[in-house]
Amino acid sequence: RHLAELVTRAAARTPDHPAIVDVTGGTTLTWADIDAASAAEAARLRAAGVRPGDRVVVRLANGAPFCVAVLGAVRADAVAVPIGPVAVPRELGIVFADCTPSIVVAPPDDLDAAGCAAAVGAALIGPPELSGRVSDGETVTHGVGGEDIALLVYTSGTTGTPRGVRLSHRALLANRAQAAELRPAPVTPVDRVLLSLPMFHVFGLAAGFLQVCWAGATAVLTGRFDPEHTAEVLVAHRVSGVAGVPSMFRSLLDLPPADLRAATANVRMCTSGGAPLPARWLADFRDATGLWIFEGYGLTEGGPVLTTNGVGGVAKPGSVGRALPGIELRLVDAEGRPIDTEDPDDDEELDAVSEPSHDTGLVAVRGPNLFSGYWPDGAGGPDADGWFRTADVGFLDADGDLHLVDRSSDLVIVNGFNVYPREVERVLAEIDGVAEAAVVGVADDRTGEAVKAVLVRAAGSTLTEEEVRAHCTLRLARFKAPSVIAFVDELPRTPTGKVARRQLAAS
Ligand code: ATP
Repeated sequence: RHLAELVTRAAARTPDHPAIVDVTGGTTLTWADIDAASAAEAARLRAAGVRPGDRVVVRLANGAPFCVAVLGAVRADAVAVPIGPVAVPRELGIVFADCTPSIVVAPPDDLDAAGCAAAVGAALIGPPELSGRVSDGETVTHGVGGEDIALLVYTSGTTGTPRGVRLSHRALLANRAQAAELRPAPVTPVDRVLLSLPMFHVFGLAAGFLQVCWAGATAVLTGRFDPEHTAEVLVAHRVSGVAGVPSMFRSLLDLPPADLRAATANVRMCTSGGAPLPARWLADFRDATGLWIFEGYGLTEGGPVLTTNGVGGVAKPGSVGRALPGIELRLVDAEGRPIDTEDPDDDEELDAVSEPSHDTGLVAVRGPNLFSGYWPDGAGGPDADGWFRTADVGFLDADGDLHLVDRSSDLVIVNGFNVYPREVERVLAEIDGVAEAAVVGVADDRTGEAVKAVLVRAAGSTLTEEEVRAHCTLRLARFKAPSVIAFVDELPRTPTGKVARRQLAAS
């Protein structure tokens, strides 16, 4: 019923088992340590005046103090609001003004956080003590739980202004239980899971760290993801599970093959999510390591995991698989009406230009893992029947597996024709000299919008614009072929590993 029970439960079962190996901070905490430290943090917050339901912003880098601060806030019956250390004052200002925190937990020298906290009348306190101990016998009976909000997570804002997603204790616990039902289970008690994902994002925090708490396993936390450092950590800490975004797995492929194989010798499971995993990266990783990468699909509003590919052992390239147990999934039109996937002449169907052989629609989901609407009042949440419509366009293949076509918001309209960037990106990724490709719409006087391709050349490649055009002409209808082509050294990405589309237009 209460999220903090994950920690007390793990501490009761295996108090001396390592819970967090903080590689950057150089500390290891057992479940008993985390239990004590988060209880002490809850006591500190209460002493600082935090009342049930108050928002506590946690702005700390990846590491044990971040986890203790979030768990402590939840344990104090407050609403934890994780925010990235990279957020700039403008972004902090928007979030603080929206959620009106009573306390901000941040390093004492974080002047940006201090300034923004002062502007909304919130107090700033330093990171929690990791050796925190509470007086014996202090048992906390929680006044909240279930439908009350445990986490308020602001979406990364790749499509606009950040919005606070209200995640209840019920939703977060339900999604952990749903994921734990998968076979093979993503995290088991003996696993040591590398989490180098940003912890302020729901993927790293809930699908990563809280799933580790659910299993009473071990989280190996690092703040950075460069391939050499990651290889060292994988070996030194006998990592058995890696949770990442596609670009992390791609960067591991830069290691010499023998090093990569040695580094992944103990790894049993890799999971990727947050952005599409190109089929070529999946295949190359499998060739190099013998491991599949299981691709999941989720969003903050889903707590976050909705589907996963490869249950039963084999990853199907290009698909994000099936809904987790306990989650219903269907495709709907823009008005929310279910699409009849049996009827090929269905008028209600969304534009199917990109995948002409399939009925595409917006992915809608229903389940106890869903959020409780956006902050403050819960607007925009699941409808009266419990369905939540995402902005993701997809189709179901003959096996019933979901494929994501694109986000409806990323659609580019050229002369009235719809172009989904991901289809063009897949065609560009086939070119030998292309390491990475991203596609975006840019304004065009003549056609309204035009397709722009931004490409990273593979090492040693001398690929030219003309060669790219020649490849596209053969494989894409004329309106879909990029009319603007730019080469860059690196694609701009958000801290959560997604291509930063708005910056692409300018590059
Ligand atoms: P904002 O809504 O502010 O733009 P965001 O969409 O990045 O932020 P998240 O909740 O982090 O917020 O991201 C969820 C989105 O990520 C999904 O709606 C989907 O578009 C995309 N996504 C997640 N997993 C996958 C995947 N495996 N393949 C393709 N896209 C994915």
